[in-house]
Amino acid sequence: MALYSEKVMDHFTNPRNVGKLDDADGIGEVGNARCGDIMKIYIKVKDGIITDVKFNTFGCGSAIASSSMATEMIKGKPISEALTLTNKAVAEALDGLPAHKMHCSVLAEEAIRAAIKDYYDKNGIAYDPAEFPEPDEHE
Ligand SMILES: [Zn+2]
Repeated sequence: MALYSEKVMDHFTNPRNVGKLDDADGIGEVGNARCGDIMKIYIKVKDGIITDVKFNTFGCGSAIASSSMATEMIKGKPISEALTLTNKAVAEALDGLPAHKMHCSVLAEEAIRAAIKDYYDKNGIAYDPAEFPEPDEHE
């Protein structure tokens, strides 16, 4: 039985949107202790739309595949929609992740939220702090 779906392998070996944006409007960086994954996401925003997104992930294959899929899912979308992206949706889009790797997809969700919060902070845009809880410690 294959441990990883074909989609996970595809996004791991050929990740989309890798790199950084020098003129990013928001940057989110998160990490987890369990695999030592570190994920950094850059977003470019215009009129409330995420016009471009790049990521740098130092981590396991699931973290890289999740970042790649998550950036594809929010590119060209309104911020409001990106905020509703859950790690479950990312994992489903990848045709599933092994249970012990689900926390890697959580990183993608958190990194996106962190980047949007950074964008709000930098631009003095008011938001409800309850929408941006501190990320859990992933032990
Ligand atoms: Zn991981």
